[in-house]
Amino acid sequence: MGKKKKREVDDRFKKFGTVSFTSISKVNDFITYLEQGKVMGTKCRKCGTVHFPPRADCAECLSSEKEWFEVSGTGELVSFSKLIYAPIGFEEDLPYSIALLDYGDYKIFGRIAKEIPDENLEIGMTMKTEPITLPNGHLSYVFTTA
Ligand SMILES: [Zn+2]
Repeated sequence: MGKKKKREVDDRFKKFGTVSFTSISKVNDFITYLEQGKVMGTKCRKCGTVHFPPRADCAECLSSEKEWFEVSGTGELVSFSKLIYAPIGFEEDLPYSIALLDYGDYKIFGRIAKEIPDENLEIGMTMKTEPITLPNGHLSYVFTTA
């Protein structure tokens, strides 16, 4: 449990490259799952609350007993908007659209795949979540048409 191990964990986070994930260092498995081609969230074993992005501790009951589940199937596009400014690490990839998908039991915030033009987006349309590697080498996920 020396400092060396901690540094390895931090390196995995750099691959994801987004500010919103840096505060949840206990869920680095998220990155490992992305490397395996899986987009995963966490579900609280105590109260059943689903978290995406994944969390080490439940926001509802503070339990740290969680299980991983794969974001699979399709969701419904609830909202989207074009970004002109991006978080640190994403600037070179502008512009892109961010969106919210409703999977029924949970909602996922993310970005729309670059290949999909804005005019093809429609609230209520069916989309799916896919892992990708960004131009800067970071692992992420996008929403594509189902
Ligand atoms: Zn809980």
